[in-house]
Amino acid sequence: MNAKTFDLIVIGAGSGGLAVAETAAKLGRDVALVAEGPVGGTCVNNGCVPKKIMWYASNTMQAIDEAGAFGIHTGHAEPDWLRLVSAREAYIDGIRDYWNSYVKNMGITLVRGRGRLVDAQTVKVGEQTLTAPNIVLSTGSEPIVPPVPGAELGITSDDFFRLDERPQRVAIVGGGYIGVELAGVLNALGSHVSLVALEDRLLERFDPMIGEILHESMRNQGIDIHLSTIVERLSNSAEGIVVGTGDGILPGGFDRVIWAVGRRPRTEDLGLDSVGIQTNRNGTIVVDAWQNTSVPGIHAIGDITGQPALTPVAIAAGRKLAQRLFGKQPLARLDTTAVPSVVFSHPPVASAGLSEPEARDIHGEAVTIYQTRFTPMRHALGNHSQETGMKLVCAGDDERVVGIHIIGDGADEMLQGFAVAMNMGATKADFDNTIAIHPTSAEELVTMNDSHRVDINSERVWRKTA
Ligand SMILES: Cc1cc2nc3c(=O)[nH]c(=O)nc-3n(C[C@H](O)[C@H](O)[C@H](O)COP(=O)(O)OP(=O)(O)OC[C@H]3O[C@@H](n4cnc5c(N)ncnc54)[C@H](O)[C@@H]3O)c2cc1C
Repeated sequence: MNAKTFDLIVIGAGSGGLAVAETAAKLGRDVALVAEGPVGGTCVNNGCVPKKIMWYASNTMQAIDEAGAFGIHTGHAEPDWLRLVSAREAYIDGIRDYWNSYVKNMGITLVRGRGRLVDAQTVKVGEQTLTAPNIVLSTGSEPIVPPVPGAELGITSDDFFRLDERPQRVAIVGGGYIGVELAGVLNALGSHVSLVALEDRLLERFDPMIGEILHESMRNQGIDIHLSTIVERLSNSAEGIVVGTGDGILPGGFDRVIWAVGRRPRTEDLGLDSVGIQTNRNGTIVVDAWQNTSVPGIHAIGDITGQPALTPVAIAAGRKLAQRLFGKQPLARLDTTAVPSVVFSHPPVASAGLSEPEARDIHGEAVTIYQTRFTPMRHALGNHSQETGMKLVCAGDDERVVGIHIIGDGADEMLQGFAVAMNMGATKADFDNTIAIHPTSAEELVTMNDSHRVDINSERVWRKTA
């Protein structure tokens, strides 16, 4: 069969793949987009979007629970899981429809099926053969299920979004962002949640202040947290699924166990070996700063590369790559310094730039830290203890802000603007010179003073302000 020839073949129609295909098409190139799953990829179908809808639902439940503190009597509220899930899926159907029409209207050739590299310019999709001088791999990542006895009794975050009833008793294995997000959602919607993590603190990759405050908040909300704990096996019993750990078993049997122990790049059957594409030890594809793989003409973007696994990072990588290849912008490339990110936990977390330990490693004694911890006004009337914590990490004599870390109500919407300031090189003095907006939590970021400054020689990596 004759091969069809394009300017660009993109394998994977998720966040990164759509971005590179769209930008190349806008620049007048003939693009083939190979899609095995639904267009939109993880973010739309199994990630950011369904997760955020569940977060909104759980926040609504929390607000109802807290309404009494403001003299509002609401009675007992019970979530209707099926209604929530079907409204969520209808919304996502709309996004999928949008993308399908958009791809068509852009003149991109959508090829349904699994793409496989045959050589540096050829991709096979079933019986079809496509060729192009440029190929982009953007096949994303998938959840890891650890090889322990009974692992199949657990489900993944993908399966969580397919549940047609809310589990009453659930164990979540993993203290990373997916684990703490699902724990917060399920707990607020009324499930009894246990969370097990191998690490000695939640959200280990974030500034230590975050994990410490989040742990207290989640525990106050009734989540049963087991840190430094290895799950060694799952088994069935009359009481439900039993979670066996290095120390024995978790109290109680569970209706569901959710594996949230990390994700691995989706490279199976992609033909990497036959073309000679280099991978890292964890299976991610080796790319240089320009998204080039080890094989000329083949590029990789998004989760498959091991760059920060976030939708806006995959999108930015895809757009920049297309601008470089086809848009006469030879210097266009992704910049991953200070990527801001949010965890939709309860309360949410927002973070950009260096954590305190990272800054101390890089800048040594030239680091100054300002931090604060308080009960936001919204929680002052009730008995739901949810504290807010904020930290500014500064470096050098001019105290340039190199890290911002926030946990607390509104953190998710607070950080974006501050991230712009940080990227522009704002100093602590610039923050001080900005008039506060009162009464808000965000104003604390521009009103911290010497009394919030942490002694650099403090034994603790961070400490509470008095
Ligand atoms: C539960 C969860 C919550 C998340 N929340 C957030 C969030 O709040 N904010 C955020 O920024 N990020 C979030 N993420 C991460 C975000 O979804 C990913 O970083 C992003 O989707 C990566 O985009 P990508 O293009 O690399 O891959 P994907 O979006 O995963 O797209 C890859 C696509 O390639 C397809 N594919 C795979 N193999 C082949 C093949 N051989 N041929 C053809 N097609 C193939 C797949 O079916 C998929 O459609 C979340 C992820 C999860 C799992």
